[in-house]
Amino acid sequence: MHANAPDDRYDLLVVGSANADLVIGVERRPAPGETVLGSDLAVHPGGKGANQSLAAARLGARTALLARVGDDDHGRLLLETQRAAGVDTDSVLVGGAPTGVALITVDPSGDNSIVVSPGANGRLTPEDVRAAAPLLAAARVISVQLEIPLDTVAETVRGRGPDTRLVLNPSPPAPLPEQVLAACDPLVVNEHEARYMLGGGAGETPHDWAPALLALGPRSVVITLGAAGALVADSRTESLDHVGSPKVEALDTTGAGDAFTAALAWRLGRGDELREAAAFAVRVGAAAVTARGAQESFPTLEEVGAL
Ligand code: ATP
Repeated sequence: MHANAPDDRYDLLVVGSANADLVIGVERRPAPGETVLGSDLAVHPGGKGANQSLAAARLGARTALLARVGDDDHGRLLLETQRAAGVDTDSVLVGGAPTGVALITVDPSGDNSIVVSPGANGRLTPEDVRAAAPLLAAARVISVQLEIPLDTVAETVRGRGPDTRLVLNPSPPAPLPEQVLAACDPLVVNEHEARYMLGGGAGETPHDWAPALLALGPRSVVITLGAAGALVADSRTESLDHVGSPKVEALDTTGAGDAFTAALAWRLGRGDELREAAAFAVRVGAAAVTARGAQESFPTLEEVGAL
């Protein structure tokens, strides 16, 4: 049952992907037609949706995930890791296709080649979103990314509650319909996604990109800048602020963007101003890069405090 009394709302609902990341270390990545031997297989829970819901729950957010996994071992692994972190998985649908998989080969220099099979993520339909209407209405904030069909993203935007805030990270980047862009508050992009959305010609620096991204329609924009933190632009206050990241020794940046976005979304739902929420989120992102892996690296609130 999903409670929807005002005091009982979900801090965050993530509508997105859940993948198994299958990782093999190789001396060098194979050329076409070539076979190489690699390390033992490592299987990690991943996918931007599952990463974000887990990151938020680890911080203490009351979090639910709307996603689809296959009726297979990868799907069970994803469900178990979400539940163990405290995520409400009642709305994770099972079946229809194998769980999404990312096949990753990594060479000793850290360069990787990745093949993604969206699998069940590609079968999360607008109808699935409509069936979860009470959950959408009961969320303070909904976070979406683009590893699920665009129709499903658009239906999530349409179906959100009247006072539900939408946080969208266009990853992997794709053209977005006007009504989706207009609902973003904020649109969260890294430098690569910002360049894609602007299609070139909007200037060379993130300070140029922020107003150009706002001109596409979102109410606010956050550009993440890796070790340099984030830029925050709000159309309501016509403000543009830089938020610096704490200096840390970065071991592995995988999943930093998801940890950042989850933290930002949670704090917005708790009533923070955008700049305040971003100041917290950069600390969460920084903490996440000090440990290896994606979900394994997401910090608790105590770990963020200790940074
Ligand atoms: P990824 O694809 O690796 O998950 P991303 O490219 O989407 O990340 P980034 O801008 O690289 O996003 O990082 C997101 C946030 O994580 C940054 O805003 C920052 O707070 C934190 N971060 C990332 N790299 C570092 C770093 N080297 N030192 C400190 N903080 C970092």
